[in-house]
Amino acid sequence: MSKRNLTRRQKWRIKKIQEERASRLNVKAQHIDQKVNTLFKDDSLGPEQKGLVIAHYGSQLAVESLDGETKGEIIRCHFRSNLQSLVAGDEVVWRLGNDGTGIIVASLARRSELCRPDSHGVSRPIAANIDYIIIVVAPQPAPSSNLIDRYLVAAELQGIEPIILLNKEDLISDNADAHTNNTANVIAEDMSAEDVITVEGIDVIDPDSDNSSSVSMKSRIDSLLRLYQSIGYRVLRSSIHTESGMSDLMKLLDSGSYIFVGQSGVGKSSLINALLPDINQKVSSLSSSTGQGVHTTTTACLFHIFGGGNLIDSPGIREFGLWQVEPALIAEGFIDFHPYLGLCKFRNCSHKHEPGCAIQTALADGKISKQRIDNYFSIIDSISKP
Ligand code: GDP
Ligand code: ZN
Repeated sequence: MSKRNLTRRQKWRIKKIQEERASRLNVKAQHIDQKVNTLFKDDSLGPEQKGLVIAHYGSQLAVESLDGETKGEIIRCHFRSNLQSLVAGDEVVWRLGNDGTGIIVASLARRSELCRPDSHGVSRPIAANIDYIIIVVAPQPAPSSNLIDRYLVAAELQGIEPIILLNKEDLISDNADAHTNNTANVIAEDMSAEDVITVEGIDVIDPDSDNSSSVSMKSRIDSLLRLYQSIGYRVLRSSIHTESGMSDLMKLLDSGSYIFVGQSGVGKSSLINALLPDINQKVSSLSSSTGQGVHTTTTACLFHIFGGGNLIDSPGIREFGLWQVEPALIAEGFIDFHPYLGLCKFRNCSHKHEPGCAIQTALADGKISKQRIDNYFSIIDSISKP
């Protein structure tokens, strides 16, 4: 039911429920603060130390100590209610208490944060300080440019660099190409003119087009990846089976923090297991150090990769997507639209049919691909619906 149709009684009930929830949260916050105050008296605390939040478990944080005698150890830390929103990847200042647990005294500013709405629709951070979002695609399940664009927009709007990784590359060797080994002919013969889009001189096949089903998988995927490369995105290829591309991936992930996202079945768990062979062991030792069961691993956890980078992972993060985005902001997430934004004749141009639309002109001039514009409209439509 849309909000407009709510009766006065329904509105009153919703308001009441919200007030009760706010008051419950307030009581809970006071309770946490009292507990923390009795556990930690200033005069018995160790010096201030830097730490990195590895995971947030309910009322406690698993924090890796970054300096001092405890450097490298994971310390269970308490925090006052005003620091509720700390998440994996946050940098903090903490002090050690008498009982071997710590207290967070401050959190440092974030370079970036990944947010998603909680069960009440309020946007909450789920991970912090992420440098790269690795969007994993594969020949199976077939990649969708629409889904890739959704991830790209979400990453751009969060200010985090997206990288596209084609996994299961072994499935698209020339020999495995069931349809043909002469892709150029297939494009010419089997596709209608609308399926071949020219972007800055590069022919791109629309992978979401039904007509393209008879075009070889290899040419479809190559075209798709070329499109994103032509826009300026980094594209990598990998195969868990043949290990091709794995050393390039490792090199990229040597520094910085990153997450893997993508459709189910593209190989995210396989990639993560290859990069972090003992991940399950780490998760269970983290759970025991925080006194929480392994089942709580739905929370995001940060892991160090052998080469030096950090991987932040959780089932929720792997499904990271576009939530609660203002339709007006979506165009900002299409980096190939940037040179033309603000140049339309009408300030509130929908870029559909208005005269003097700079985006439509860029499309006609082959500067923007039709596929990207179609996906833009599809995203706008899906988030504008009540
Ligand atoms: P997730 O849902 O994205 O986490 O995907 P999984 O890691 O569970 O992988 C789905 C399936 O793809 C599994 O059967 C994997 O063995 C398989 N798989 C993963 N990586 C590769 C690869 O590089 N090549 C091939 N041929 N199969 C792979
Ligand atoms: Zn326009």
